[in-house]
Amino acid sequence: MNTDVIDLAIDLMSRRSVTPEDAGCQELLCHHLRQDGFSIENFDFEDVKNFWAKRQGQKADGPVFLFAGHTDVVPSGPESQWRTPPFQPVIEEGVLYGRGAADMKGSIAAMIVATHRFVNQYPNHQGSIAYLITSDEEGPFINGTVRVVKALMEREEKLDYCLVGEPSSTELVGDVVKNGRRGSLSAQLTVNGHQGHVAYPHTAINAIHKSLAALHELVETQWDHGNDDFPASSFQVTSFQAGSADNIIPGIAKIKFNFRYSTEQTAEGIKQKVVAIFDRHIINCPLNKDINDQLLDDLSYQISWKLNGEPFLTKAGKLVDATLESIEEICGYPSQLSTAGGTSDGRFIAKMGTEIIELGPVNKTIHKINEAVKVTELQQLVNIYQRLLEKLVL
Ligand SMILES: [Zn+2]
Repeated sequence: MNTDVIDLAIDLMSRRSVTPEDAGCQELLCHHLRQDGFSIENFDFEDVKNFWAKRQGQKADGPVFLFAGHTDVVPSGPESQWRTPPFQPVIEEGVLYGRGAADMKGSIAAMIVATHRFVNQYPNHQGSIAYLITSDEEGPFINGTVRVVKALMEREEKLDYCLVGEPSSTELVGDVVKNGRRGSLSAQLTVNGHQGHVAYPHTAINAIHKSLAALHELVETQWDHGNDDFPASSFQVTSFQAGSADNIIPGIAKIKFNFRYSTEQTAEGIKQKVVAIFDRHIINCPLNKDINDQLLDDLSYQISWKLNGEPFLTKAGKLVDATLESIEEICGYPSQLSTAGGTSDGRFIAKMGTEIIELGPVNKTIHKINEAVKVTELQQLVNIYQRLLEKLVL
């Protein structure tokens, strides 16, 4: 079995596994894991492939360490803009180029190789090692990790530690480890006014005008100042659609917005505050008294919410300590904990009461044209992952 991390990364990256496509990546991983004594369970839902793999340790109630990740990648963008084709990985001057190099086929290859080395060196390890791999992390995240976790919770599977291989690093491999993420709450808002001729404003209610004061207050609000573990909560309007011709007062505005929130907020609390702001500026606005009653009947708004993930945090403890020590021992420099950045599948696994960290390659090029990772980075990652296993399941 070829267990060179670069060869394995190249093999994975040569497969065009754009979400939810897996293109044989998971079968390749399962092949390696089976040879290393793992039992494999497939959890395929609709068009999404997922698998769970476990190698039982000697100690029945010993700790369970999970490697979590995804085999899907985002689309390449215009292939002609790539210096080399995105699904034909190449190494030039010690850098491996191709879609998925950093997010996250490189780190998956590193997990497999670290595991292989560890189980061959310590076949009688005490704790257990598990894998949860999905092909739906970059997509709608409906049939991926979230559903596998549900199935695992139903049968009371226990997970003590989880490493998600998302690219957490900023300049050097391991310089940043994510030990939590802010929550993400999205909303779609429709504001209904009354359409009319632009020259006859008294016969219309402008849905854009009605939205502005409320949105302005949302933008200006300092939601909180964050805390020791989290940066401040933030609000962003992500889309605003309204209007048609130059001579029409728009009767409808459609707005999307998103909150990234710290543990100083809850999703329910944010929803209540937002509704109060819209009620105040749209429904109960003092200027509404000037609008004729028949038009006013049309004035309304609706919000539909989507909670993408609640905030989660892994405080100092065995996993965080072991991770920081491993990085320092292998790389010779200290690492830093962070909860900044986007969401990851860690938010679903956190529901199992598992300690979670994210540790993967440098994230400078992820989702970009010419995504890349340094060969030495992946080699170091193998060593860090292996050291972590030695500290936690030996
Ligand atoms: Zn990713």
